[in-house]
Amino acid sequence: MNFVRTLAAVVAVLSLTATAGLAQNKGKVADRLYVLNCGEGVAGDISRWSPGVNEGKSMDFVDNCYLIRHGRVWMLWDTGVSDAIAAMPNGLAPADPRMTHWKRPKTLASQLQQIGVKPDDVRFLAVSHTHPDHIGNVEMFPKAMLLVQRTEYEWPGANNAPRFKPEHPVTKLEGDYDVFEDGSVIILSTPGHTPGHQSLLVKLRKTGAIVLTGDAVHFKDNWDNRRVPSANFDKDKTVTSMERIDAFLKKEKAQLWINHDKAQRDTLKLAPQYYE
Ligand SMILES: [Zn+2]
Repeated sequence: MNFVRTLAAVVAVLSLTATAGLAQNKGKVADRLYVLNCGEGVAGDISRWSPGVNEGKSMDFVDNCYLIRHGRVWMLWDTGVSDAIAAMPNGLAPADPRMTHWKRPKTLASQLQQIGVKPDDVRFLAVSHTHPDHIGNVEMFPKAMLLVQRTEYEWPGANNAPRFKPEHPVTKLEGDYDVFEDGSVIILSTPGHTPGHQSLLVKLRKTGAIVLTGDAVHFKDNWDNRRVPSANFDKDKTVTSMERIDAFLKKEKAQLWINHDKAQRDTLKLAPQYYE
């Protein structure tokens, strides 16, 4: 067999294998999804998230973390505001009064404990992006494998500081990532809010598919109107990412769970209850 024919045969086998893999993955799901209370706050002026709309209007915010069980493996999506805020009687006031005044009614540690999960049990830790209300407790999980986009990881922080401790185990992602290699939990690259922002598609047996937004959008009204916060890193990419999420919602018949939307979270069951 000459080289070209050998190559053609190899390609044919590979594409068959890929197709078989996809067929095998049909219907694969994660076992449980817990919604954790990872902060509650009041935003001083929500027009920060919708330029020219709702100026001067304040609004209650929530901050969620999500714990996923896949077989015997635990994965945490976002870590919320720092648990240290739970000990502050008046919470943490923002430097800019238009931003969010955070409180921590429950610590992340106590909610994990209630479920019976120790920090070292968490194998994968993915964060939507590196704003403080999402990475407040990353170092509670020094052994967990961080799953973060390379562009976010390498985005210089204040005074050029790294976004994460250099010694923290990390897999630097370049786009979408199938966490368990079975299609059940997929990190979706949704840049715009920050350079390497990401969202998460989770498939469950009873609940079906859900897209966890991260901060690709902050509340439903802004989603419905495709509004882009003034502080976002890239406006065009934000809109493109919202359209990308919308395409996934349609393709997977998925629900959209918006991280900071209090009205929506009030309709969800919180840990130790779970979705399956
Ligand atoms: Zn946020």
